[in-house]
Amino acid sequence: MIIELERGRQSTLDQIRDIAVRFGNRIELSEGTGVFDTILVIGDNREFAARIDFIRGLPGVQAAWEASAGYNNIARVVRSRDGRAVQRERRIVEVRGLDGKARRFGAGKHIFICGPDSPQTLDQTLANARLARAIGEKFGVLDRVMLRGGAYKPRTRPTDWRGLGMKGIAMLDAAREDTGLPYVTEVMDHNLVEQIGEHADMLQIGTRNAQNFDLLEAVGRFGKPAILKRGFGNEAEEWFYSAEYIANQGNLDIVLCERGMKTLFTKGGYCRNQPDLNACTHARKQTILPVIFDPSHVSGDHRIVSENALAACGHLVDGTITETIHTEQFRQDQLCDASQAMVMDAYSRLVEAILNFEQHVQPHLLAINRMNGVV
Ligand code: PEP
Ligand code: MN
Repeated sequence: MIIELERGRQSTLDQIRDIAVRFGNRIELSEGTGVFDTILVIGDNREFAARIDFIRGLPGVQAAWEASAGYNNIARVVRSRDGRAVQRERRIVEVRGLDGKARRFGAGKHIFICGPDSPQTLDQTLANARLARAIGEKFGVLDRVMLRGGAYKPRTRPTDWRGLGMKGIAMLDAAREDTGLPYVTEVMDHNLVEQIGEHADMLQIGTRNAQNFDLLEAVGRFGKPAILKRGFGNEAEEWFYSAEYIANQGNLDIVLCERGMKTLFTKGGYCRNQPDLNACTHARKQTILPVIFDPSHVSGDHRIVSENALAACGHLVDGTITETIHTEQFRQDQLCDASQAMVMDAYSRLVEAILNFEQHVQPHLLAINRMNGVV
């Protein structure tokens, strides 16, 4: 639902906001260039839309129309059925650490998420976190570093190790306490969203659950920031609709993550999944959401993680989520995704390379984009 309102009509604006809140929605106001501002009603707005005639009659309302079907809550451009369009601001998703610093996805600076595939021992989890912190300090980007680790692991084979559950979450809590860095962890079950979400700073929905609609809605209702991985067999549009399931519950703090597709072309073992980098660019154009890239699950081999990460930087991603290992010796003990974990000194070089890319190459890419009319 989109409403055009004369600027300065505060009481009408308040009234529209109240109606939105009453039906579980909220509003987003964008200042227009002329005398009208545009109000977008966020969330599942069927109840609100039933009041469209009343809204049209309020003082200062120039027009109110229903947006055409689509993923309107996250779309960069929202259109009405008769073709009118509202271009929206990009969303910045903030995750604050105990160190008081906000990691801001989509604010133009690369966010570095790293850590083990999964916490297995306290020592391993703490060692990863401390090394991550040291890298952040070394390059002066502590406010861009975050931890990862899956305590609940989706495994293809039921006999494989499936993570430590809440014991693993406690280890991630300890790592956060120790370093001040916030962490993201996967949730697989809509019944566990609150239990895990009370601990985690950010929730991850994995590729296998990208179309688990109950889970998406539960994460949407819970309201904490979320990373939504693209389903490995999903069209980009399907990925956006999955994000819309979260947004439709009023939670726009969503970060999209491309992590590679299963294709015939990965046979032969040269990579684990096929990275769809153009989908990152597409997501940036089609949605207001920040987009990050997972170079680990596309690779399956730690020796090709860095080139994949840098390739994604060429597609102007807002960050990367990379699996790391605190020491090479631990690889033999790692119970999941051992071969793709980057040793921390190599990861440190990758961070340095990405920062160099950001400083020296990215401005050229942005200039070319502007020449092409892409902003
Ligand atoms: C992970 O992040 O460890 C993971 C399981 O990712 P994905 O859902 O992309 O396979
Ligand atoms: Mn993994």
